[in-house]
Amino acid sequence: MHELSLCENLLDLLQDEARRHAFRRVTRIRLAVGRFACVDPDALRFAFDVVRRDTLADAAVVEIDQPPGLVWCGDCAREVEVPTRLSPCPDCGGLRLVPRGGDDLTLVELEVA
Ligand SMILES: [Zn+2]
Repeated sequence: MHELSLCENLLDLLQDEARRHAFRRVTRIRLAVGRFACVDPDALRFAFDVVRRDTLADAAVVEIDQPPGLVWCGDCAREVEVPTRLSPCPDCGGLRLVPRGGDDLTLVELEVA
């Protein structure tokens, strides 16, 4: 499962941070999942619950944001928001769209103890 490997990477990142900044517990995590990342937030939450057992993050509150997908429309010559990567431009219906990010998982905030 795609979500599971993302969560394993996230946990590796948290453990690296814990070593570097000498904290032992993660109390809150805020993630942003790009609209184009093909990641289902519910599946991500579920996968993280599996991966974090008996780790520094096992009691952390997890918040997942899903910011809108931004693309550059070559016809409108401006950035527009689209619900999926294959959606046409909401203004002109054009398909000359270039994604502006939104295809990854980002750690937005971390609270530690
Ligand atoms: Zn357009």
